[in-house]
Amino acid sequence: MGSTEIASDIVRRWLALALETITAHEDELGRLDAAAGDGDHGATMVRGLRAAVAAADKASGSAGHLLAEAGAAFADASGGASGALVGALLSTTGRTLGDGPYNTPAVVAALQAGLKMVMRLGKAQPGDKTLIDALQPFVDTLAAQPLDLPLAEAWWAALPAARQGAEATSAMIARRGRSAKLGERSLGHADPGATSIFYLLQAMDDALGTPSA
Ligand code: ADP
Ligand code: MG
Repeated sequence: MGSTEIASDIVRRWLALALETITAHEDELGRLDAAAGDGDHGATMVRGLRAAVAAADKASGSAGHLLAEAGAAFADASGGASGALVGALLSTTGRTLGDGPYNTPAVVAALQAGLKMVMRLGKAQPGDKTLIDALQPFVDTLAAQPLDLPLAEAWWAALPAARQGAEATSAMIARRGRSAKLGERSLGHADPGATSIFYLLQAMDDALGTPSA
């Protein structure tokens, strides 16, 4: 990302695309959550993203600031375990990015801070069948890209790790959150939160303008 204005535009475009894709998958996310949870995950994500889009439209300033505002609005509006955690992911990432620069190493560091915050708040470890299982492989793979690679290319290279991470949750038994109570019933279904995280990361790939499918 070149100028800070372009970065703010990308955050707004990302939120709009994220709302679009999560809305398109709302029923699927609800069904995944119904396997061992309460079925509200799709609706929760849509509600949070609507509020996030509105907050970013209203806010002005740097991309980091917009993201932090969007995260706070997401957490307020969506409720549920995922609301607090995804909200914290966005706000911590945004706060760490601050006023830039928004190059690949800075975005890696900001996402690492966001991931750490989610793990601290939710106390989930990799393999517990949560959104961590999509987020952590993505962040690790992004961090392994050459530092001078433009963000759009690095993101595109890391995105398959998020998809594979989300898909791999099908074979896991839930050990955190609401679905841990009926953990065995989650077997054979992907974790809804991990699936959402993949869609959010894919929407950013589109917002950054890479030629991925
Ligand atoms: P709720 O469980 O309150 O109904 P949602 O259905 O919106 O919330 O979200 C469920 C998702 O939240 C799960 O699929 C999982 O990915 C994520 N989640 C739940 N608890 C945790 C946790 N402790 N750490 C990380 N992610 C979690
Ligand atoms: Mg739920």
